[in-house]
Amino acid sequence: MSETYLVEPDVGFIKEVAKLGGQDLKKCYQCATCSVACPISPDTKPFPRKEMLAASWGLKDRLVGNGDIWLCHNCGDCSTRCPRGAKPGDVLSAVRAYAVAEYATPRALGKAVNDPSKLLILLAVPAVIFLVVGLLLKMVGINWLNFAPTGTELWQADYISNYLVDIIMVPTFFAAIAVFALGLTRFLGDMHANALLEGKTDRKTIDPVGFIQALIKTVPNIIKHNRFNECSTNKSRATAHMMVLFGFIGLFVVTGAFFAAEWVFHIEGPYSQINPFKWLGNLGGIALLIGGGLMIASRLGQKDQATSYKDWYLLGLVLMLGGTGLLTEMLRLGGMYGLMAVVYVLHLIFVWALFAYTPFSKLAHLVYRTVAMAYMEYSGRK
Ligand code: SF4
Ligand code: SF4
Repeated sequence: MSETYLVEPDVGFIKEVAKLGGQDLKKCYQCATCSVACPISPDTKPFPRKEMLAASWGLKDRLVGNGDIWLCHNCGDCSTRCPRGAKPGDVLSAVRAYAVAEYATPRALGKAVNDPSKLLILLAVPAVIFLVVGLLLKMVGINWLNFAPTGTELWQADYISNYLVDIIMVPTFFAAIAVFALGLTRFLGDMHANALLEGKTDRKTIDPVGFIQALIKTVPNIIKHNRFNECSTNKSRATAHMMVLFGFIGLFVVTGAFFAAEWVFHIEGPYSQINPFKWLGNLGGIALLIGGGLMIASRLGQKDQATSYKDWYLLGLVLMLGGTGLLTEMLRLGGMYGLMAVVYVLHLIFVWALFAYTPFSKLAHLVYRTVAMAYMEYSGRK
């Protein structure tokens, strides 16, 4: 029996997708070459042809809650073979960026993160927060912000105490988790509703135990980049992607360890250069720099693939986080304390931006794709 669907096109959605890098979408004439070329598309209801059709009709609701858009790893195989140059890989990437901004709350922040004219304002926010909170604490006698410390060997916490950093970063981190939790709850509900509508599943609700089991099964595939390795056009990107992912994981572990050292064990820094967590932090920073550099080189060399602001935002953040973190340490070891303080402030701004804006930026794909892949595993879509 044929499926009946009331078409309610959203012209604004088409324009937004075009702005986010899907500007060639209308060139598609539905030949389906892309679905055949895609190495990871399932045999039943393959992507990305159906998504190209939905996008050109402005069927926003069919796309933002469609788990298939997250199965795409933007390898570019389909875009290379598309006879019309419609760049389906980029269109799916743009739809994903739209979906992230749609699920994150507040939506206005999602739009701002994807708008280059708002970048300076977004980066000024953490600088103002640090200054205002630091000065307010000073007024009540807590001296966690010191513009001109004295001593023969200074380190970054002599300028901005780790306590000040933590009382700002920790709530920001948990606020980001809350934004993700709200967004993912809606996303999972929409994915399931779409799957029911398209006949991909017949289960009325999602069984949490079954979903968690599927999640546990999915994570190793993501860590090993199994899907990336099935691509051909941009296969080399798997290595760079892996470096950035492991860089972030390493730095996350180090941040947690030093947080515990400070608050639980009351061990004050600076920590020894041979401390293993310090080494892990250094390796994480280097992995971010090399991985980010490789990604930029790959993007610049790939003429079939559009690179929009959302891509540069993420790549810039990766490089700035790794670069300012390592430079802060090198300047301290070199005794250039004034410059170290400036670079450290920049580093804190980028770390805060990472926490606060991740649920709204391209980096959110880490979370949304993991959940979508787990859902596909759970619902039996291969
Ligand atoms: S995106 Fe290109 S390959 Fe895919 S259906 Fe459209 S024209 Fe064909
Ligand atoms: S970009 Fe790669 S993974 Fe995504 S639809 Fe195209 S071929 Fe498939």
